[in-house]
Amino acid sequence: SSTSTPITATLFPGDGIGPEIAESVKQIFREAEVPIEWEEHYVGEQIDPRTQSFLTWESLESVRRNKVGLKGPMATPIGKGHRSLNLTLRKELNLYANVRPCYSLPGYKTRYDDVDLITIRENTEGEYSGLEHQVVRGVVESLKIITRQASLRVAEYAFHYAKAHGRERVSAIHKANIMQKTDGLFLKVHQLSIVAREVAEKYPDIKYEEVVIDNCCMMLVKNPALFDVLVMPNLYGDIISDLCAGLIGGLGLTPSCNIGEGGIALAEAVHGSAPDIAGKNLANPTALLLSAVTMLRHLELHDKADRIQDAILNTIAEGKYRTADLGGKSTTTDFTKAICDHL
Ligand code: NAD
Repeated sequence: SSTSTPITATLFPGDGIGPEIAESVKQIFREAEVPIEWEEHYVGEQIDPRTQSFLTWESLESVRRNKVGLKGPMATPIGKGHRSLNLTLRKELNLYANVRPCYSLPGYKTRYDDVDLITIRENTEGEYSGLEHQVVRGVVESLKIITRQASLRVAEYAFHYAKAHGRERVSAIHKANIMQKTDGLFLKVHQLSIVAREVAEKYPDIKYEEVVIDNCCMMLVKNPALFDVLVMPNLYGDIISDLCAGLIGGLGLTPSCNIGEGGIALAEAVHGSAPDIAGKNLANPTALLLSAVTMLRHLELHDKADRIQDAILNTIAEGKYRTADLGGKSTTTDFTKAICDHL
């Protein structure tokens, strides 16, 4: 409730359209009386030697301390001698799972109107370990790393998420028939995890299944309602989550949340800084707003989350105020005001 002590959350407005869409989030949170105080951090002007990146040490400490935050898009400056901003965040904060909810927006027509999927991507290893080398000329090798520890972490999170959000089924997506050792271990850890849970009778209601990735893609495109929560290794998660975004209208609408060590949650829009429309009051704040909603759900502020989500969806459904990417003529500020009115 609005009378309880406010929660401090880190906010990275980010680059390009970031500050404009972050302003929209701040305004709507104020209007809905969300008990959150933002601690704002911008990407630095120069490399911070303590992080080897344009991200300052203080900004990372802010996320570690608050354990919850919202991140706008960040444009990694080109040049040598520093790490990518997103990679720095992922490594420094150990953001091991990327969660992407994907549901049909009422009133925004696509081929499907019953999409309600959650993809959970292992975010730290797999094919993204960056271990590639040339064996001899004309032959290169890329190492796919799967560890029991990282697989268990993401498995535990997937079952926890399913339980916490009243979901019924977790599907582990894999190619263990070919990648017998790597995907094999990923599956084995998931099986052990669900068995442990059944024994403890912690989450007896959640069904578990395993689906080969090629078959999963076919089923998703044919009938997305066949799935509920999907959990998978890094590369598959990258591809499948974009496929899911395509089912509901594209990357401008889909939120995400990164889960890290020690219960950290860093929500972020999936899209980039959109330099072509930055500073023109044209950006669609929906993806960042829905990311902020996932952050509220992580904090179990479900009433506020529902209220804000309904206001966004009702504004889009009504169709009177839509930004240009959705075929409308509204500015970011008009669209934001319309959402406030729907609150
Ligand atoms: P982009 O997502 O910024 O833009 C692609 C297209 O989508 C553009 O036409 C843009 O105008 C449009 N678009 C994106 N978000 C929109 C929104 N909210 N409302 C309306 N239109 C929107 O991708 P890009 O151009 O490839 O990348 C630009 C910069 O962003 C690069 O520096 C890249 O490194 C960075 N980037 C950052 C992240 C991140 O921080 N997570 C992700 C992707 C790209």
